Amino acid sequence: MKRIAILGSTGSIGKNAIEVILNFPNRFKVTYLAVNKNIKLLLEQVKLLKPKGVVIFDKEKAEEFSNFVNGEVEVLSGEEGLLEVVSRDDVDIVLNSLVGFSGLKPTIKAIESKKRIALANKETLVVAGEIITKLLRENNVELIPVDSEHNAIFQCLVGEKISDINRIILTASGGPFLYKNKAELENVTVEEALKHPNWKMGSKITIDSATLMNKGLEVIEAHWIFGLPVDRIKVVIHPQSVIHSMVEFIDGSIKAQLGVPDMKIPIQYALTYPERKHANYGQVDFVKLGQMTFLEPDLDKFECLKIAYEVAKLGGTYPTVLNAANEVAVEAFLNRKIKFTMIPEVIKKAIDAHKPKFNPDLDDILTADSETRKFVKNLEGMD
Ligand code: MG
Repeated sequence: MKRIAILGSTGSIGKNAIEVILNFPNRFKVTYLAVNKNIKLLLEQVKLLKPKGVVIFDKEKAEEFSNFVNGEVEVLSGEEGLLEVVSRDDVDIVLNSLVGFSGLKPTIKAIESKKRIALANKETLVVAGEIITKLLRENNVELIPVDSEHNAIFQCLVGEKISDINRIILTASGGPFLYKNKAELENVTVEEALKHPNWKMGSKITIDSATLMNKGLEVIEAHWIFGLPVDRIKVVIHPQSVIHSMVEFIDGSIKAQLGVPDMKIPIQYALTYPERKHANYGQVDFVKLGQMTFLEPDLDKFECLKIAYEVAKLGGTYPTVLNAANEVAVEAFLNRKIKFTMIPEVIKKAIDAHKPKFNPDLDDILTADSETRKFVKNLEGMD
């Protein structure tokens, strides 16, 4: 029986993970659930899964929740609560599906506590890839990517050597604005940006998919997970989202992982690896699909992807700045303070203003993150 802590249980990945886990009552037991503040859904999840404890990041909500449950479940709060549960003995796997930078410290603590990491929080690797990979090695801990592209690559690499990889080909759906021209992007609405053609996800990642920043973050994520230089990680637009990513080997052979676009598949694989278990998440009907198409990403239109590539090559604290500026800009767009096309502009300003540190330690990263957030929030039109 593997005991799991789900960080971000009321988000899209968390809800899918619970569906997966409920299919394997003899194999998995959820011992902890952690949420930001959605205590209404958390209460339902507690009744369903009967965990030992919960973490509610928002302290007021944690108190409110304590009153509901009346001692039936342990209630922890804040970052301390997250760091506490990921290090407990009754946890074997930490599924980290927190949103953004907040996922970093719990990942570090979980690795130091020698838990298997099922990682959906790509920002962890974007901002601190060097630190995380070093910690994984030192603690002999496995990190299984949940992100569908990286999970696909991970599956393609079973039985292979990293040194035999020639290129990684990350597929991207292209998002809702694939067929709009640059001028049309100027006036797209939040609602339009939130309509992802293939995947149903949380709002932050859905906007990142619309700007293609998500793919940029994934290039950096792949660089750290698979140890490949960024210029050997290629992005190709594949609007049908059936090929989840591919690996090209030194002999020219290419392996791809395909399937219906359902996050339950990579989540389940991350939890059951190295085993495969039976599941019914749908089949690809190739005849009905008819064709699969591929396009070069338009870096002039989707500047975020271009910036991410540049930043990935620069390294140091630059990816932290990219991520922090993007998080603040996306939130400002979701709150209708800035236009969609302002997102890359804001990020560029933050990068230009940044004084980088190379081989950063955790403090350097935390400082770069908070200074960037402050800088971006003070830019004209952000408040
Ligand atoms: Mg992805």
